[in-house]
This record gives sequence, C-alpha cells and structure tokens, in this order.
Amino acid sequence: MSNILYAIVERMRGENVREKIKELQKTQSWTRKELQDDQNKKLNELLSAAKKTVPYYSEVIKNPNPDAINSLPILTKEIIRKNIKRMFNPEIPKWKFIRYSSSGTTGEPVLLFLERSAVGYYHAAQWRGFSWYGIQPGAGGIKIWGVPINLKSKIIEKLKDRVNHRIRISAFQLEKIKVKNLWNTILAYRPEYVYGYASALYLFACLLEENHLAGEELGLKLIVSTAEVLYEYQREKLRGFFQCPVANEYGTCEAGIIAFECPKGSMHITSENVYVEVVNEFNRTQGPDHDGRIVVTSLRNFGFPLIRYDLEDIGAFSGKECACGIRLPLLQRIQGRTSDFVLTNSGKKIHSEFFSYLNRELMARGYGLKEFKIVQKKKNELHVYLLKIDEVNRRAVDFISDTIKKHIDPSMRVTFEFVRKIDSEKSGKKRYFVNEIPS
Ligand SMILES: [Zn+2]
Repeated sequence: MSNILYAIVERMRGENVREKIKELQKTQSWTRKELQDDQNKKLNELLSAAKKTVPYYSEVIKNPNPDAINSLPILTKEIIRKNIKRMFNPEIPKWKFIRYSSSGTTGEPVLLFLERSAVGYYHAAQWRGFSWYGIQPGAGGIKIWGVPINLKSKIIEKLKDRVNHRIRISAFQLEKIKVKNLWNTILAYRPEYVYGYASALYLFACLLEENHLAGEELGLKLIVSTAEVLYEYQREKLRGFFQCPVANEYGTCEAGIIAFECPKGSMHITSENVYVEVVNEFNRTQGPDHDGRIVVTSLRNFGFPLIRYDLEDIGAFSGKECACGIRLPLLQRIQGRTSDFVLTNSGKKIHSEFFSYLNRELMARGYGLKEFKIVQKKKNELHVYLLKIDEVNRRAVDFISDTIKKHIDPSMRVTFEFVRKIDSEKSGKKRYFVNEIPS
C-alpha cells in the first residue's frame, strides 16, 4: 500500500522519481566516453540557457562553451545572497520551485530555489545508490535525523516520512528514547535500511548494544551514513553490530547526491546530475589524487542555476576504475568541510579526524569521557568543552592537552570548560571539532 502511495505522491509533485531511477540505472553502465559526452552536452545546454535567461549569468558567462567553464567565477553562498533576485529564470513560475534554506557552517543561512524536476533527479540518484544493495524504491527504512521545532514543519515532515515509508528517530533526543519500546516498533516495521548522520548512527548502535539487543535481528540490507565524515571506527561498529554493509553517501540539498558508495567501497560520482571539479587555492582544477575544494555544477536545475558552486569540502578524484561494474567516475578521500581543520600559528592544517582518534584513545584508556567538543576561535587556542556528568578526572584533561601540544602544535593554548550539555549543530549533527575562525 505504501508503495502505491509513494508512487502517487511523487507523480503529483512532478518529480517522476521512478522513471528517473530507471534512466539512471541505464546510464550507470555507460562507458566513460559516453558519460563525458552526455555531460558536455548538458553543460553546454545549461551554460547557454543560463546566459540567455538568468540576469546574473548573462553578465558572468561570456562563452557558453563547456571547455570554458573553468574560467567562470566560483559561486559562493555570499554571491547568491547578494544576487538572489537575479539568480532565477524569471519566466519559470514559482510553483515549479522548492524553496530551500541552506544552513552552512558559518554565517547566516542562504536561500536557494530548486526546480521540482531537479529534485526528482536528486531523489532518483539516492534510490539508485540504494538499489546497488538490493533495495527497491519506496522500501521501508529508519531515518535518524533532526526534527523541526515548529509544529507546521513537524507535521509536514511527518507526512513526508509516512509517504516515504520510513520511521524517523530524532537525532536530538537519542539519549532519551525508551530503547525497548522503540526496538519493538522497529522490529514490527521490518525496515530494510537505516539512514542518518554518522555520529547518530553510531550512538544508536551503542544504545541498542548497551540494552543487550542484537542488531542483526533487524535483518537490514544497508546502513547509509550521510552529512558527516564517517570515521572508520564508526563504520566498524555499525557493520559489526547490524551485520550488514555500510555505505557512505556524499550529498547536499543544493545539488543532490554528489557520490554514493558501491558495495566494493568506491564513491561513484552522480555524473549524470552533477559536474564535479576539485580546485586548489587558486581555483584551478586538479587532476586525480590531488586534494582540493569540491566545486559542483548542477546539470538539472536550469531555473536557478548553480554553476561552480563551492561546497567547502575537501576531497580528491580517483583515476581508478571500480570492479563493481558501475562505470561512474570516482571520488576519494572526502575529508569534510574546510572549517573542519585546525589551523596553527605555523600555518599547519590538521584535519579534525585527529579528534576521533583522540576519542578512541581516551576510550581505550578508560578515562570515562563520553562526549567532548573542541572549538577554535583563534589560531593559537583550542577550547575544549567536557560534560560535567562524565566525572572526567585530571588524567583525561592532561592527556587531551598533552596530545594536542604533541601532535598539533606545542605553542597551542588549550583551555577547558565543563558544561551540562554539549549542543549539536543547528541541523542536529554532532561534531568533535568546529573551526570558528572568521575567514
Ligand atoms: Zn563500484
């Protein structure tokens, strides 16, 4: 029944997801040459249409040839904010768009508009990824996610969950749930997948384990981790506890699924929907194996084009082919936000994954630390928030301070503060580290 409901609703919304999934399932086995030709064709159409119909791009695009895309300016949230009224094709009626407010890591949110048909392709790319693990569109799942605070949004989200045949567990209140009740509900529901932020998925598995429940009883086909960097220890725990594959999804609301991990462990780029570049600090395009910022062009959103949009994540291409049979090109090492790096006085950049290792070490030493958050506001200073209830002893504090000085920078000042609660980000994500140095 819910599958029929899903089909009706997505048709009403003008997204036609099912047809789009079929289309993407065909193109995933195209040769690299076919994929590239298709991408060039779409880029050409996009650049020509943007130049012709969108006031901002009429000024910016001199030559709509796809080969000249590298000479176009990088699109930032700041530029969108300043030019919002000139970023549309004014001839497209407003009802064809979905309004979206991007939270971003710093600063105020930016408003974007996504064409419904583009969003259809974004959903289709996600279901295609799920299909690599034998999951059919509309299959039931669990989503561990944020829950809106205001009632109207709450009801809308609830309806969406119903239509999409999924149960939502609030990522904000995981610690408060009555685990046994929830477990019985989930068991009766028979989900095929669990989807959520890496940290929330990890916490969920820990909670079930602490309550002596066996994850494999759910008979899941897949765990999908999204929105945060998935650390190796989290992946191991999830795979071990639920006895099923764990896939990493790299996506954004603005451009949909950028890449999805296949059963062989490669991150395949959704090259039918998005043109991806990796650029260095001079905004020059990088080849395989070179780290840089990930910049995307949506090939589906003609009404509100996002051309060379800076995702502010660091990553690199891989030049390899995957053995799974899917020919879509590969991304490797998606390291997360540029704001996830610790900056030192000497100019070093240390990735925040460092703190997940620090956490692992703290756990291994039995220092009883459940949660912490480190914030950098100045180059030579790190501020560590620790939970009061964790009964952190002096050894843990010394260990954190010593390890930071030893591995990051001896001149780094480390200050500590004990708090009752460590807040999630606005979106519900948890992060060990946040760089708040103004850029
Ligand atoms: Zn593959």
